[in-house]
Amino acid sequence: MELSAETIEQNLREVREKVAEACRKSGRNPEDVKVLAVSKTKPVEDIRAAMSIGQHAFGENYVQEIQKKYEVLGDQVEWHMIGHLQRNKVKYIIDKVKLIHSVDTVELAEQIEKEAAKHGVNMDVLLEVNIAREETKWGFTAEAAPEAAKVIGAMPHIQVRGLMTSAPITEDAETNRVHFRNLRLLSEQIGAMGYPGVRMDTLSMGMTADYPVAVEEGATIVRVGTAIFGERNYQK
Ligand SMILES: *Cc1c(COP(=O)(O)O)cnc(C)c1O
Repeated sequence: MELSAETIEQNLREVREKVAEACRKSGRNPEDVKVLAVSKTKPVEDIRAAMSIGQHAFGENYVQEIQKKYEVLGDQVEWHMIGHLQRNKVKYIIDKVKLIHSVDTVELAEQIEKEAAKHGVNMDVLLEVNIAREETKWGFTAEAAPEAAKVIGAMPHIQVRGLMTSAPITEDAETNRVHFRNLRLLSEQIGAMGYPGVRMDTLSMGMTADYPVAVEEGATIVRVGTAIFGERNYQK
């Protein structure tokens, strides 16, 4: 179902309010938390509705969809790639996205390095970590993440800016608190190693079901789709 522009605006205000509340609760500054509006499968009009109340950062999962929306909106907004990225598609988004959240192999990073060099850009990336060790999920294990950060940070056209995770789907957000905390601890641990090209200032965690808990545990980006734009319809 598509929501009206008014509903999207109202939803976004509520998300911002909940982020602010989680910040108050945990003694954080709301300015340190960015709401990434996840607009995958949603039309450009929905993005415009969010833009009308100052939303600037949008998350997308599919390369083709980024290309299409980029044709219309260009650099008026920040595009973030949050979905699994195939190596042969890096070339289509390298000059369009602000941050790739979903670097899940060193081989993908090598491809990003290659395309970034070719386009003369410096790419900011996050390493996706499968923090809860789910069999179905992409991402580095917590054990593999430090070495991956070292290797990828050494690539001249890539800056590792932090970690990203998708926590397990759950009815009770509290059960994900431990995973968010573990991701933050891992990020601090990697940051302390001082690897060149690695600056762990970004933690991308928390979705519609659990973003307030993620903020309490240190998220600097929450990726919220359904709570802003409504349920997605993948049939279209
Ligand atoms: C779709 C998606 C989101 C947003 O999920 P909601 O539950 O709709 O908020 C966040 N992160 C990733 C990686 C996604 O694929």
